[in-house]
Amino acid sequence: MSLGIKKDDQVLVLSGKNKGDRRRVLHVIPSTKKAIVENVNFVVQHKKSRDPRNPGGRMERESPISLCKLMLICGKCGSPTRVGTKKLPDGAKVRICKKCKAEI
Ligand SMILES: [Zn+2]
Repeated sequence: MSLGIKKDDQVLVLSGKNKGDRRRVLHVIPSTKKAIVENVNFVVQHKKSRDPRNPGGRMERESPISLCKLMLICGKCGSPTRVGTKKLPDGAKVRICKKCKAEI
């Protein structure tokens, strides 16, 4: 899971209103195993403010979605895939697509 989904990955949304959509990851929050995904899980927040110069109002923004509801899309074969890891000769780890074995 740790090497799963990263910022700027293309992912498939597996559940919720946006199920089936292919979107880009904007931000990953490792502590909660959630991610902010572009245009997914939009919520409207009503902001209250006592400051007359900044009256608040409706604010729409993405709320975090659980990483287990997302699946990485491989850039090589274009299919949703589980992420594997491969160790390079220099010891670095890379993510690979379990379907086509390409590095992601
Ligand atoms: Zn692939």
